Order: sequence, then structure tokens, then C-alpha cells
Amino acid sequence: MSLPRILMVSLGGTITMTPSKAGGIAPTLTAEDLLAAVPEMEQVAVLDAASPLALPSASLTVDEVADLARTIDARLRDDVDGVVVIQGTDTIEETAFLLELLVESGKPVVVTGAMRGPQTPGADGPANLLAAVTVAASVDAHGLGVLVVLNDEIHAARFVQKSHTTLPSAFTSPSLGPLGLVIERRAIFRVRVQRSPALRHGAWTDRPTPVALVKMALGEDGRLLRALPELGYQGLVLEGMGAGHVPAELAPIIGELIAKMPVVLCSRAHTGPSLRATYGYDGSEIDLLRRGAISGGDLSGLKARLLLMALLRQSARPDAIKEAFRTYSTY
Ligand code: ASP
Repeated sequence: MSLPRILMVSLGGTITMTPSKAGGIAPTLTAEDLLAAVPEMEQVAVLDAASPLALPSASLTVDEVADLARTIDARLRDDVDGVVVIQGTDTIEETAFLLELLVESGKPVVVTGAMRGPQTPGADGPANLLAAVTVAASVDAHGLGVLVVLNDEIHAARFVQKSHTTLPSAFTSPSLGPLGLVIERRAIFRVRVQRSPALRHGAWTDRPTPVALVKMALGEDGRLLRALPELGYQGLVLEGMGAGHVPAELAPIIGELIAKMPVVLCSRAHTGPSLRATYGYDGSEIDLLRRGAISGGDLSGLKARLLLMALLRQSARPDAIKEAFRTYSTY
């Protein structure tokens, strides 16, 4: 049986970083270098390598990710069976979710990286690469949407988050757990999730659609919220306290904002949805939704921001935005 053809695209990140003259580590290695370092991958797939970027992942832009989504779809249509995206772990939960929104193909797209640099004892990059290629080459990974593979665990882009700054086990999906594991070079899926419907990435225009992400905190006085329209923001994702709450005196300010831009209500808690129908005081989720806020459901603020940004790029109408949040949130 012939091996599947997998494209490995490197954007940079710790997995590519070696000591720099300025001190610390910085991206230097290419996808070809990584491929050469893990020859076992050639037993799993025929590999193509590309290195369009070499950045720490904090410096990736949403437009670069949208360009990558187009490239991935073109290659999956033309000549490859799956794609592995290699990048920094700091923003994997965002890039994987944006790719989930924009990539139309149902073939496997897997994002991976490393928590330790290649020259650090116990470097996890080689094992993560082999596991990621194994998943991308698996027929069982079709139709699950974008997957994130590190530490031999397979996570869905919708649910995954970086939960620790240094451990190789940093990636978790607290509301669901991993979809599966890589064991003895096999991708074993224990749970299958319905992939999110793809937005049309043809409609991702170059016009920037800045969306603010604001976390509520004790004693917040709302001056930042008031300033958002003047700063040019076109939308707001609010990470409310608990189930989606704000101090009472901020509720009217948010009501005024809603007249100017879509406001999506998420929770600053790391797990669980913002509610819809439990608390009824001023500043509660019922109050804010009644004023016209859109429920972000169980999407994290980071993911809700990307969804709102993508919808605004497509000039989605308010009703379509509400509908999309109902579709993409599982709560
Ligand atoms: N700590 C990061 C990483 O794991 C750096 C980055 O995100 O580029 O790759």
C-alpha cells in the first residue's frame, strides 16, 4: 500500500528555536531541518516540507493564518492527503480554531509544536512531530476538523487550550478531554466530534475588523469599554465574571456599546459556558442578553474573538452573527 502524502508547513515556534547571539532561543530551523531530525516520519508518510514563516507565534497575524488556510485547501484539493502545521504553542489554540473556521476540506489538518527547544534535554518536538504526522496520515482523522497534537494527545481545535506555560502536557481540553491518543504509531480516537461548518474563506477580505477582548475584573469602572468605538473597534468580546456577569453600573455602558457594535458575552472562567437564563440582576447574563449581547456559549473569549472577526470580514448582518454563535458554540 502506498503511503499518504503529507505537507508539513512550519511557521516557527520553540520547536524551531536554537540559541541566538542576543541570548535565549529564537526561530532558525526549517521544516526540512525538522524532517531530517526525525527520519521515522518517512515510514508513516511521503513528506513535503514548506517554511513560509519563522516567527515566535505571538507575532503571527490573522491574515497570515487566513493565507495559510487558502494554501492548505489548495494543496488538499490538488496533491496531498493531510497537512501538519508546525508553530509556536503560545497561540496554537487560536490559529487551530481560525483554521477550523476557514479550511473547507475534510481531510486531516493537524497543528503541533513543542514546549521545549530542540537542544533542551527531554525536547518534545521530535515526538510531537511523529505523532502529528501519524494523525494526519490516519483515515480516522477525516471529518473531525482541525486537530492539535502534542504529548501524544489528540485535541479538537474547538476545545483545546494551553493550560500551562512550560510542561509538555500543557495542552488540555477541560470540557471534553482529548479525542484520542497516539500509541505505537497509531492514532486511536475514543471520541468523535462533529466538525464546525467552515466559513467561506473566499470572503475573508483584507479589510481589518478589529475586535476587542476585554476581561472583567473586580471594581472595573468601564472607561476602557467607553473608549472602544473611538479607538476604531468594530466588535467586542467580553469575558464576564463567572457565568457572564459584569458590575451593575457597567450594564448601561454595555447597552450603549451594543447600539454601535456586536458584543459577545463569554466567561473569564476557563471552563464552562456563559449562561443564558439563570441570574436576573443588573449586570447578569439575562440583563446583558436582554440588552442585545450575543451569547458566546462555551467558546473561550479567544475563540469567540476570532469567530466575530471572521464574521465581520464577511460583512455578516447582526442576525447572521447571532446564528453563527449558536452554531459554533456547543452550549
Ligand atoms: N513558547 C512558544 C512555543 O512553544 C513560543 C511561541 O509560541 O512561538 O513555541
